[in-house]
Amino acid sequence: MTFKQFALRKELLDQIAELGYKQPTPIQEKAIPAILAGKDVLAGAQTGTGKTAAFTLPILQLLSAKSQTKTKTPNCLILAPTRELAAQVGESVQRYGKGLPIRSTIIFGGVNEKPQKRVLHQGVDIVIGTPGRLLDLTNQGDLVLSSIDIVVLDEADRMLDMGFIHDIRKIIQKLPRKRQ
Ligand code: AMP
Repeated sequence: MTFKQFALRKELLDQIAELGYKQPTPIQEKAIPAILAGKDVLAGAQTGTGKTAAFTLPILQLLSAKSQTKTKTPNCLILAPTRELAAQVGESVQRYGKGLPIRSTIIFGGVNEKPQKRVLHQGVDIVIGTPGRLLDLTNQGDLVLSSIDIVVLDEADRMLDMGFIHDIRKIIQKLPRKRQ
């Protein structure tokens, strides 16, 4: 199988080629078409198997298809258990989406929230972050979740192990009912 078979936009295929990816990994082969079709997906794979691109590539494709109606509030929320993982996913979003006019930001606790608030108020399409700070900024009204179409729980098992269930539940409650 090749990446071309997913009918991804040229900007994404160019980036994939530049990174030297020859073919999709097994998790990408299964997850990318399902996500592009708008399905809810629950997937498990070891680290290092291309899991991040498996959700990042189709999300960038879906968001760029509707990015003409540029809103200031984000359309995609990615939750991750640690700041390291959030940063890593954020870098992947930037890297794969390099040729696209999609804005993303990374949000985590333990640092000054002012710069994070500033970026949110400027407007972003994808927010990647850890549950505690995301909930905090939502409660303060800086992060608006009413336009979220796609939500990702990356390493959901680890987030549960770390006791994030309550924060995650509260965040999910604030999302629109109709979402992927
Ligand atoms: P991940 O499991 O998402 O952390 O990805 C692990 C590593 O594999 C990252 O360094 C990616 O850049 C790389 N990678 C992701 N997809 C592919 C692919 N289809 N072919 C080759 N490398 C890939």
